[in-house]
Amino acid sequence: MVDYIKELKKRFKVATDLETRERYSKDYGFISPKLSKFRKIADAVVWLYSEEEIKEFFKIQQDYHFYIVERGNGTNTLGGAMPIKEKSVIVIPEMKKFEVLNGKLISDPSVEFNDLDVSSLPVYPTSFNMATIGGFVAGGSLGIGSLKYGAVWDNVNMIKVVNQKGEYTFYDNDVKKVVQSAGTVGIITKIGFRLIKRDKIVVKNYKFKKVGDAINKALDLIDEAEFISIRSKEMAYNISNENWDNWNLIVGFPGEDGKPVTSADIITTFAGAYFTVVNKKKVSYYSVDVKIEDLEKLDKIKGMIDCELARSQGKLFSHTYFLGFSEIPLQNEKVFNLHSYKINDRVEEDRLKKIIDFKKVVDPEDYINPGKIEY
Ligand SMILES: Cc1cc2nc3c(=O)[nH]c(=O)nc-3n(C[C@H](O)[C@H](O)[C@H](O)COP(=O)(O)OP(=O)(O)OC[C@H]3O[C@@H](n4cnc5c(N)ncnc54)[C@H](O)[C@@H]3O)c2cc1C
Repeated sequence: MVDYIKELKKRFKVATDLETRERYSKDYGFISPKLSKFRKIADAVVWLYSEEEIKEFFKIQQDYHFYIVERGNGTNTLGGAMPIKEKSVIVIPEMKKFEVLNGKLISDPSVEFNDLDVSSLPVYPTSFNMATIGGFVAGGSLGIGSLKYGAVWDNVNMIKVVNQKGEYTFYDNDVKKVVQSAGTVGIITKIGFRLIKRDKIVVKNYKFKKVGDAINKALDLIDEAEFISIRSKEMAYNISNENWDNWNLIVGFPGEDGKPVTSADIITTFAGAYFTVVNKKKVSYYSVDVKIEDLEKLDKIKGMIDCELARSQGKLFSHTYFLGFSEIPLQNEKVFNLHSYKINDRVEEDRLKKIIDFKKVVDPEDYINPGKIEY
């Protein structure tokens, strides 16, 4: 057994059997053949139960220079929780307490959305029934609520990370040094999240021949809607069997007037939409953040298309999935690369700069989730 594993075993709960290492060296990035070919099997899986243990763990890491890959529940679809280097250790920060303080959620990283009242969270992933809040804050982006309340980085107001240089707590705009960094700047140990009061949600569908009419209706509803998906007929049929037209709006509203939403309805928005169809049909998939004024161009494109309207840092756009295309059918839009493990291929420029600046200070040698950020 290699020296550092012996050392880790003296202090922490560690698994080194092949079955456990294989199971924890995989995330939902398996859906992309381009991503999964980079996968390496970690040397060990380590469970850490407190910040003190995390700090002690980093001391050993500094002596033995192994690589660290943090993990929540491994539902990231972008290879974020998958080791891509030899000599890697999977770290599970097994910390699961949370409380509501002054109207804000203060949470440990491994709290599962299933343990929280998601109706009080401004944004949460469509994988909420199987994910942790730490994994969402570290590696997620948009989700249910993003149209009204923005992305995950718009709703985290405090974050604490521990790394080999010490512990850092950031507030408000500075949380962007850590959120969506895929764990490349340290192990998140505490999260402050805004809370809201959300009414019950009902879903209504609207059907159109032309995408322009669907867009106009979506813009009419934008201030009242909780979420809006615009789906081509081909995409809509693959999600549910109804009498769809060429372009369809699926709109979630707060209130009582309409079909009450079930979690099955909601899990097919955002990443849940493409994941569901790609998993079923094994087709190619791309995601592009399309400007609202460019959405009309979709009328000329035929195939499985899903537009999830969302806001990030106050800006409205369509997080758009194209399925079954041999290449991205729209040019000059911001690609959100679903086949790259590097966050550079997804994170907005201003936020990426904040993450890179922090990374250079705390982990210049790239030991924490190595390879996932270019800097
Ligand atoms: C069907 C489906 C639907 C999905 N819908 C959405 C969606 O709507 N929006 C969205 O953003 N994502 C979505 N995802 C992706 C993913 O499920 C979410 O981002 C989820 O919140 C990840 O949580 P997790 O606990 O599984 O994290 P993991 O997959 O374990 O980790 C995610 C990333 O965070 C890092 N990480 C985990 N814990 C820590 C920590 N404590 N400190 C530092 N880094 C850490 C990991 O290294 C990894 O890079 C979806 C996935 C599926 C399969």
